[in-house]
Amino acid sequence: MRILPLFIPHQGCPFACIYCNQFSITQSKDESIAYFQKLIADFCHQNTAADKEVAFFGGTFTALSRELQEEYFDLAAPYISSLRGIRLSTRPDALSADGYKFLKDRGVSTIELGIQSFSDEVLIASRRGYSAKTAVSACESVKTAGFDLVIQLMPGLPSDTFSSFSATIDQAIELQPQGIRLYPTVVLEGTRLADWYAAGKYAPLSLEEAISWLKTGQSRCSLAGINVIKTGLHSDLRAIDIVAGPHHPAIGELVQIELLYDELISKWQPDMTLEIPGNKKSLFLGHGRKLVNMLKKKLLLDKIAVTINKENRDIEYVFKKVKAQYYW
Ligand code: SF4
Repeated sequence: MRILPLFIPHQGCPFACIYCNQFSITQSKDESIAYFQKLIADFCHQNTAADKEVAFFGGTFTALSRELQEEYFDLAAPYISSLRGIRLSTRPDALSADGYKFLKDRGVSTIELGIQSFSDEVLIASRRGYSAKTAVSACESVKTAGFDLVIQLMPGLPSDTFSSFSATIDQAIELQPQGIRLYPTVVLEGTRLADWYAAGKYAPLSLEEAISWLKTGQSRCSLAGINVIKTGLHSDLRAIDIVAGPHHPAIGELVQIELLYDELISKWQPDMTLEIPGNKKSLFLGHGRKLVNMLKKKLLLDKIAVTINKENRDIEYVFKKVKAQYYW
């Protein structure tokens, strides 16, 4: 699926959430209607496949005035038959039954809900302004109204623990969304959280903790057949905007490495050659050969015998009695 993200930072938001600075997250330089119009036209002309969506991110879309929502929808209207639909992100307490009909009629296909946590304690400490019950019922109503649902979660918010994050993942899986985004909490410049951090009232997760939490979340989602469509904020967040916290430009890949390490250790067959899909080579050799080094250390090996299957990208990692192409 191709998605064109259009950023409307903080538009419609009832207040600035303690951790949120959409101007640094989205690095949005132009929010003008003319600019969006050009981006949509280019996107639709360049992508002929029907599996594409125009998305409005970075604000509380459904809390905008109906007139402004119409104005944004009108931009996509000339192309709507060539799109899968429109995607938008919003808060769980900014939805209404009559709003759903309006969104359906305008071609909205997917609603992303910034849930962040299903723990009341975390939601209160993070001053989100709604309860876990509201969050659950918003997810249910989005699905009942016939939209695809994506749940956005933020492990590591104030008062979050591994146990409350774990329960949050369980709740998210129970709601059977079409996808989940996992954004470990990073302290951004210009936020209330940055003040709390400076005053010693908030400590973010370390990178190692965040990877370990994300690994649990991702493996549970994958066992349940739920797609984690994004892990971590985008990679080109400016260093100047990050005060503290587990930001890494490739955190999603680091989590993949940890998951793959567990999988390979559990199925390792000595004196055999490991066959890997061609597009996964970088998972083994990237980050200073982290995965290869972890495997060699654990298995007390000097080298790992590897063959690469370039034809089939969907193969599972298997061990074969074949000549190795590489010794890593
Ligand atoms: S987290 Fe969502 S609702 Fe809160 S300020 Fe950011 S965009 Fe707005």
